[in-house]
Formats: sequence, C-alpha cells, structure tokens
Amino acid sequence: MGDFVPYEWDNCDGWPRLPCRRGDIQMTGITSATYTDLAYLGGTKAIATTPIVGRPGEPYPDVYVPGAEPIHDGEIRVTVLGSGNPPPTRAQASGSVLVEVGNGDRDLFIFDVGSGSLANFMSLGLPINSLDKVFLSHLHADHTADLITLFGSFRKAGRQGPLHVWGGDGSEPKFGTKVAMDAIEAACAWDTESTRGFTSNESAMLIGVEFDASVTSVVYERDGVTITAFPVIHNLHGAVGYRVDFAGLSMVFSGDTHPCWPLVRAAQGTDLLIHECFPSAAVLAAVTGDPIERFQTITASHTVPKTAGKVFSLVQPRMGALWHTFLVPAVVMPILEEVSAVFDGPVVQTQDLTIFNITEEAVVARQVKAVPQAMAVPGESRVEPTYGTRPAPPAWWADAIIPDEDAPSEAFHR
Ligand SMILES: [Zn+2]
Ligand SMILES: [Zn+2]
Repeated sequence: MGDFVPYEWDNCDGWPRLPCRRGDIQMTGITSATYTDLAYLGGTKAIATTPIVGRPGEPYPDVYVPGAEPIHDGEIRVTVLGSGNPPPTRAQASGSVLVEVGNGDRDLFIFDVGSGSLANFMSLGLPINSLDKVFLSHLHADHTADLITLFGSFRKAGRQGPLHVWGGDGSEPKFGTKVAMDAIEAACAWDTESTRGFTSNESAMLIGVEFDASVTSVVYERDGVTITAFPVIHNLHGAVGYRVDFAGLSMVFSGDTHPCWPLVRAAQGTDLLIHECFPSAAVLAAVTGDPIERFQTITASHTVPKTAGKVFSLVQPRMGALWHTFLVPAVVMPILEEVSAVFDGPVVQTQDLTIFNITEEAVVARQVKAVPQAMAVPGESRVEPTYGTRPAPPAWWADAIIPDEDAPSEAFHR
C-alpha cells in the first residue's frame, strides 16, 4: 500500500500543480481523442490528456478488439462497463467497472453492476462463468440494477456456479448488502424455479458477503489478488471504495463519494485511480438551462472536477480517470480544464468501454471496438453442477395447449 504521507487538505498551497509521480509520460502511436469526439458520436479513442504513461513493451493497436488481445500473465486490464448516471441511456450505461487479472484462472471482478452494464460486458466476449465475483460500492439502484440480469438471465446463458456479492453493512441490517442479496434471490424465485432442471442448482445461489464499511480492511485474498475496501462518504453509512492489488500493480475504484481521506490514504501508490466526477453545478446549469441549486443538491454527495483534481494531486496515481459523468460535448473541455488546473498528471475522462492496460512498463487507455450482437461465451464451469426438477405444470395446461410436433411440450418438462 506504500507509506502514506499525511497531507493537510487546507495547506495545499492553493491546490498545487504537482508533477506525475512516475513521470516518463510519452505519446506513441495512440493519440488522444478530440475532447468532443465522444465514443457514442463515433469517436474511437480514449478521451485523455495523455493516453499512455510509460513505455509499453510492445505497441498496442489503436483500438481494443475483443478476443484479439489475450491478457498477459501479471497484467491488470480494466474496462468501464458503465460510465453514466442513474437513468441509463444508449450512450452511457449506469455505473460499472470490470477488472481482469492475468493470474492462473484469469479471474474477473466486477465493481457495481448498473443498468445496461452487462450489455457492454457481453460485447467483450469474455467467459460468463468467470463473472462470479461482484463488489458493490453501495446499494443505489444505478449501481445494482443489473444484478438480476447477472443472477437470472446469465444463468440461461451458461452461468453454472454461485454468484458471490461483497458489500458493506448498513447502520442497521435492513440497509446492508446481505438483506439486499437475500431479497434479490427471493424476487427471482419464479425465474429460478422456471429454469430448474436445465440450469444448475448452484447457479441459483446468490451469496451476499457483508463487511464493516466503517474501516479499511482486506475483504478478498486469493490466487494473488488482494481486494481492500475503504469507507467513503456518500448519503448514508455503508458506501465503500475498493483497491485491487495484483502482481505489484493496482487499481482503485472510488464508488460514489464526496472527496474523503480514507480514499486518499488507501489509493497511495496506485497505478490507476478511477474516481467519480460530476460536472460542476455551474456547468450543468449552463448546459441544461436549469437552476444551479438543483445541481448543487446532487453534486453535494459527489465530486466535482476541481476537487477530483485535488484528490489526484494528493494521491499521485500513475493515471487518473474520471467516471460516473454525464457526458455531452459541452461538458468535456470544462471538466478536463478544471481538473488540469490542479493536477498535472495524466487524466482520462472515461466513457462506456474505455479500457486500460496496466503493466509494469505502462498504463494505456483506449476504447473498445464493441461487438453489438455478441454470442454468449459460457466458458468453463468452476463447479461440478447438479440439477434438480422443475415443479409440475398446472393441470389446466393439458387441455389448453395447442400441440406442436416441432416443439413437443414433453421436451420442456424433461
Ligand atoms: Zn450513489
Ligand atoms: Zn451513482
């Protein structure tokens, strides 16, 4: 985690412009996008002040094509599956970040699963059976809504093992992760029983793992991967951010938070800090024509660009990234200008399917060339599946059904 040098928030010399901790920034074959060249408007490059930090061992293609670049041993790859706001749009899914690690099992970890994020996961062609570890930053619906899709619908696409979901406790049990996961499992009872027999019994298990959200602690440690949760400040007790450490590399995910010290401390020495960032209330008011007070209420629970830049300057990540941002061309330049006024290091404004390769040599930001209609890739099951029997059909079906010899009803019930 590195030694934390305590900084005084108010004694930052007017929010100093600090150089990048590891320097050695260079532009290579990949160039950053014009700031208004958003992916949903046809852009193909990451929106970045500097898309490459360090010197990659070998040149990366301009865009990431799913399936064309297997993850290397010892590498971390991070893909933003959802970069947007509570209501998903065709331009931006709600919050979600995928982490792949180059360990023996090529583990996948998903941090939040907002609405629409799993459509972006599907476009990557990654094995569904590996997507069995979810880490929730908090229980706002824009960070959890695709859990039913992952639990119920991905079972029909080949998911065979239990789904494990980690998250913070609440100030009382009803606000905690465990109760929320039990409720989702209960809400899916019809879905689960309707597929009993041709999906595994194990895939019907949703296992919530709850931890104390008020302290920084290791919540996962396996196969070379350590995940540390740290408390953040967002609406109620229970919200956390996460740090992933693997093979001497790391990434930090803020979740939703007002700027806070536990994050600054936990993120020291990280290679990639993905921090939430809403456009400032003044910019949102100018773009929408709505009163500034409306946006101040929202941004009070979050982080605006100037303070995100201040957090970056205190953490000094190898690369900083902004996330959970309402993105239209008019907000991109003001955001990057406000961040760059207080932080000299590389900054990426993430969009859906912005992808980062993190290696000892370099951190590289690109965009994925999505596959809109991808076939499900089940991958290898991590359990020995067992199967049960579906409940008997109601008696009235026997008289009501119209026989179809191409789709015999017995096939459904065997
Ligand atoms: Zn939230
Ligand atoms: Zn949120």
